[in-house]
Amino acid sequence: MISREDISAILSRYDENNLKIATVCSHSALQIFHGARMESFTTIGIATARSRPYYESFPLARPDIFIEVGSYDEILRRDVQEKLRCENAIIIPHGSFVEYIGAENILEHFLVPMFGNRLTLLWEGDRRRQREWLEKAGIPTPRIYSSPSEVDRRVIVKFHGAKGGSRYFTASDRFDLGSKLQKLGYTEGYVIEEYIVGVRYYPHFFLSLLEKPNVSGVDYGRLELLGIDRRLEVIDEMHRGWPDVIEEYMDFTVTGNQPVVLREKLLVDLLEIAARLASTSRKLFYPGLIGPFCIETIYNPKRGFTVFEVSARIVAGTNLYIYGSPYSAFYYDEPMSTGRRMAREIREAIRKNRLESILY
Ligand code: ATP
Repeated sequence: MISREDISAILSRYDENNLKIATVCSHSALQIFHGARMESFTTIGIATARSRPYYESFPLARPDIFIEVGSYDEILRRDVQEKLRCENAIIIPHGSFVEYIGAENILEHFLVPMFGNRLTLLWEGDRRRQREWLEKAGIPTPRIYSSPSEVDRRVIVKFHGAKGGSRYFTASDRFDLGSKLQKLGYTEGYVIEEYIVGVRYYPHFFLSLLEKPNVSGVDYGRLELLGIDRRLEVIDEMHRGWPDVIEEYMDFTVTGNQPVVLREKLLVDLLEIAARLASTSRKLFYPGLIGPFCIETIYNPKRGFTVFEVSARIVAGTNLYIYGSPYSAFYYDEPMSTGRRMAREIREAIRKNRLESILY
């Protein structure tokens, strides 16, 4: 695995006065370029011939430099990595970046400094490890069933490597589950999870190693709540088929995001969960969570929050808040997106001579 020392060696050859912020032109790249520009960084977009002209069309968010690739797995090519290093590039990993290149390839073969802690890829990309992390943090999670015969309530079935909820389905009990699995011909490669009834909230956090702790429970940095969204999934439109239940609406594929705010007293619960997640991450994969992360939650008035997933990087829901959110306004009296917040952290790290602590 690429070590911290490998990345430090590369950083020692970088020109700190000429660092550039780079990412793949997809997911939340426009926000990342826009935010980097606000912090006076030059930006690099890794694009295909097809996506490039579209990314060029946004005057305030277009990358300054393009690196064109035939397909995104070419990012691993030696010459592409060399070009990124020659440009003093710092990569901001987003969901598509990790998906296109693969967590394992990033850990083993991608020798370019990345914002945050690369080790989080090991812990958030593997469902079992992620569950261990959440359990060690004492955070309520949906029950997982190791076999269909154990099922004693409504469940949701998830597939390994599913993209944004695609192909997930629910079953009302073990008999319903058995017949659906049989009908679909699935024998492995899925997880059976308790279906949680409630309202979904996806809060976006940022953990700054460079600032003093501000929330009880996190002793290694400042925890900021930069926004909350709710994902728009096909199933959310199910009522449009009423009075019939149209089968095609039973689809959890994420298609977009909506801004939400939370009943204020519940913010305390959410911050407490984020603090526990961060402090446990520090014990499991030092130095722990750094930068943006999102917890995917369902709130039920009787059970409180249940966390069904963690994304330890910028999430697409932050694209709602290019000029800040109803929560970022409580930390910054200027527009602050997650993209800009990352660029600000890099700026601050240069100023404090602590770049190595936030890149890996
Ligand atoms: P990826 O794993 O590719 O990041 P994702 O995070 O978008 O995908 P999931 O979080 O796995 O997808 O879930 C997709 C959707 O399925 C959720 O947004 C939510 O609506 C629903 N869902 C997931 N788990 C549960 C659960 N335990 N109970 C009820 N609904 C759930």
